Amino acid sequence: MKSFLAASLLLFVSCATPRAQPAPAAVPSAAKPAPAAPVAAPELPAPSAAELARAADGTTARVNPFGVPAELDDGADFFPAGVKDAAIATPQSVLQVPVGRRPAHHDEVVRLWREWARSSPRVKLEVIGRTHEGRELLAGVVSSQANIARLDAILADVRRLADPRGLSDADAQAIVDNTPAVAWMAYSIHGDEMSGVDAGLALAYQLIADRGAETTAMLDSLVIVFDPMQNPDGRERYLAQIESSASAVLDLSAEGFTRGRWPYGRGNHYLFDMNRDWMAGIAPETRARWAAVRKYVPQLFVDAHEMGSMDSFLFYPQAPPYHPDLPAKLLAWQKVFGDEAGRAFDAFGWSYYTREWADALGPFYSDAWGSLNGAIGILYEQARYAGTAVRRETGEIATYREAVQHQLVSSLSNLRSLQQHRKEVLADYVATRRANCDASLPGRERAFLVRAGVQPTRERWLIENLLAQGVEVYRSSAEVGARDCQHALGAKSESQNFPAGTWIIPAAQPQGALVRAFLNFDPRLDKSVLLAERTELETKGNSKMYDVTAWNLGHALGLDCSWGVVSIEGAAQVKALEALAAGIVPAADAQQHVYGWAIEGLDDSCVKFAARALAAGLAVQASDEAFSAGGRRFSRGSLLVRAHENPTEDLAARVERAARDAGAQAFALTTARSPDDSADLGGQHFRALLAPRIALAGGPGASADGFGHVWHLIDRELGLPVTLIDGASLARHDLRRYDVLVLPPGNFDLADAADDLKAWVRSGGTLIAIEDSALAVCRESLGLSQVRERSDVLEKLDAYAEAARREEDARKIEIDEARVYGDPVPPVAAAEAPAAEKKPETPDPSKEELERADAFNRRFGPSGAVLRARVDPNAWITAGAGDELPVFYSGSQVLLSKPPVRAAVRLAGADSLRLSGLVWPEARERLSRGAWLTVERVSRGQVILFATTPNFRSFWASGARMLANAIVLGPGLGADALRRP
Ligand SMILES: [Zn+2]
Repeated sequence: MKSFLAASLLLFVSCATPRAQPAPAAVPSAAKPAPAAPVAAPELPAPSAAELARAADGTTARVNPFGVPAELDDGADFFPAGVKDAAIATPQSVLQVPVGRRPAHHDEVVRLWREWARSSPRVKLEVIGRTHEGRELLAGVVSSQANIARLDAILADVRRLADPRGLSDADAQAIVDNTPAVAWMAYSIHGDEMSGVDAGLALAYQLIADRGAETTAMLDSLVIVFDPMQNPDGRERYLAQIESSASAVLDLSAEGFTRGRWPYGRGNHYLFDMNRDWMAGIAPETRARWAAVRKYVPQLFVDAHEMGSMDSFLFYPQAPPYHPDLPAKLLAWQKVFGDEAGRAFDAFGWSYYTREWADALGPFYSDAWGSLNGAIGILYEQARYAGTAVRRETGEIATYREAVQHQLVSSLSNLRSLQQHRKEVLADYVATRRANCDASLPGRERAFLVRAGVQPTRERWLIENLLAQGVEVYRSSAEVGARDCQHALGAKSESQNFPAGTWIIPAAQPQGALVRAFLNFDPRLDKSVLLAERTELETKGNSKMYDVTAWNLGHALGLDCSWGVVSIEGAAQVKALEALAAGIVPAADAQQHVYGWAIEGLDDSCVKFAARALAAGLAVQASDEAFSAGGRRFSRGSLLVRAHENPTEDLAARVERAARDAGAQAFALTTARSPDDSADLGGQHFRALLAPRIALAGGPGASADGFGHVWHLIDRELGLPVTLIDGASLARHDLRRYDVLVLPPGNFDLADAADDLKAWVRSGGTLIAIEDSALAVCRESLGLSQVRERSDVLEKLDAYAEAARREEDARKIEIDEARVYGDPVPPVAAAEAPAAEKKPETPDPSKEELERADAFNRRFGPSGAVLRARVDPNAWITAGAGDELPVFYSGSQVLLSKPPVRAAVRLAGADSLRLSGLVWPEARERLSRGAWLTVERVSRGQVILFATTPNFRSFWASGARMLANAIVLGPGLGADALRRP
């Protein structure tokens, strides 16, 4: 069977790449002659009659003159054998060139799929969503005519396997025997990794048009769902870059401007890496895909990427470490599919490899998420030729069409494997889903519990997210007891009671693998992985970790949450969430004159309210401590809109609108007098906010996704206007137009702009800098900040440690009156006082020794972990945070502060620092009591520094709140902005 597979693939896909080679002979690519460069672009052909007709139709055909010239690509049919249905539009009929000669645009892909859906009974097309820029996202289903006709019944059967509770073994077996398996084939989630999309077109056309027995047999046993272009916005951005930079004479270098430029095409409109978004679903593209995958319940989940131009082709089995909640047989299946793909590549003599990187740890990648849903997740990485051709190190010229063909052969091989092993794969799929539901298995006996009502907006975000991914959520109607509890911040208890209304998410359920993978506080790595990582770090100074080692949503959202063993009996299953109450809540005595409205400051809707209300021209105050009003208690950071400060007829309507837009409640108040000993509403604990004029620095220095996440926060979450300026030429901008300037993570050269920045901050500006931008701002030579990077002050660490200790002491002040008044100490107590330990005398290390040790220890910085940080409750910027904050930390940078700068959020000491993920002891020592967030008054303005990205990948909401506070509240609370009268 297996040799048949390789042979049939050989016949099935011809090698189109070698010029003037008769198809279908397979010729190793090394045999290609390397033509002398430069290669001139071909003359544009005259438009065909069909093109002219289409132009008359109003639809313009795109002929890109800058594709790979015919000398490098003969355009031979990928599938020359067999009979094609002439009624099916060829890709070339739309592209005007052979498929793979140049990258297809989104409109072309959409046109082809619409045409295929119209003309073929083998196709069902669905628009599953739209991108931020309004482009359609498609799911193109291809199967036999009979299967398409009864697609709903097929999917209903496969969904019974997906939720096997109550499904008898006999019924399961009947479905396994008789039902097609479902493949999910997804292409080019990174928009600048283009070849997958064109391979998808070639493959879909073949499956739809080919009348051969092999194709019809495949379509009888498989339902193939194409996600033909995962990232249209990124791809179109990238295509615009490379097409507008293309020369008439083809450049074969893999580098340079012609291969794209900042912000490239990897991310979506807001530059999100959508291959890291599957857990959080911030991007509309991801959310559309969640729904589609829930509908089609695939058993194979393919995600086609590209990598460096000098590389070859990577497919699975994947590299360690492996997430413990992946399906038990995933690796075995990846080996079967990988071996078969290997044989398909061997038939052409192509290079490829497996297992060397792309690990299986993070649950947020496409293929990992697919696998956690029970499918066989497989990723490809094809060397990147950026739509044209590249001269490789050996002199060999590799064309885009070859890249497309590699992707095509890989996809086809995987579909073949699924077809050959359909029954076993389906049987394993149902076994995986059954195991997910089995509460007697380790890890499945517990549930994730979220105390409700503390952070309503974030709690609902979590619950909605889980529901959208098919996770079952319950809500307790009465107090519920749980045993063997572990809290997000580490506390453990034998038993604990949770109040009515607690959200309960059981680990044992069909989507239980997602529950455990997303919400386990502290998944551990195998010892063998630790050993390999440590060896790599010590010998080469590199990390083998492909991405972060911690991600759980409980920490990210800063929720009051625990794992515990609990019964869901009596709890109601949550099917959908009702909208949160938002708008004006009238005063108890509605007849009274309204003094104003208060908005609770703990929930994130408060900052959104501030943003909306300020944008609407309202005067808004923020409190620096908790207060009571209208029969309620309001946390510090709560807002107050006073009627007499807003002399407008429609004030109540404006407050109502801002509250509704923000999802907040505005409580009407009838008096400025506090009912208890908290602050009265007319006093000095309230400060006026200022509608911020915001600039965000971007451009080639900025990390594209770091920039995009801040942009998304300001634009999409806060709903404020933001001016995107070029970070490379800050000195050319008149900063007086802005109250807030955000430097996202990036490598900005601030030397030229330092004097302007200083003058602007001193006159009232709020400068916010994140991660490496924060390091740039605190460089001593710039004179912008007194915060320092640890490596720059190795000889003064004692002074910084003392400052951190004093900050901590100030938080737990106890008054011993006897000591205050100098009363004599009882002799027995004096005797009990421990004798001061005598320190052995060691000479202080030299500066050189310190630097050497620090340079070595820097390499152990976490690649992404969750650390415990302590919050200064007196800092305005920490409104919305409790006493402790789980912060996301990546990198070896450490910020240190001492008076006059206090850390608003400071990392905990080494012994209690790590909450989740890999943090080596050396890193814990270096990071111990480092400053994570500092607010530094500089004359009338301020400098706010974040040691790491607060809104990591846009789902780290607890940190995002600190950044939102800085932007929205900062000009009013931390600076005397220029416009204040
Ligand atoms: Zn990629």
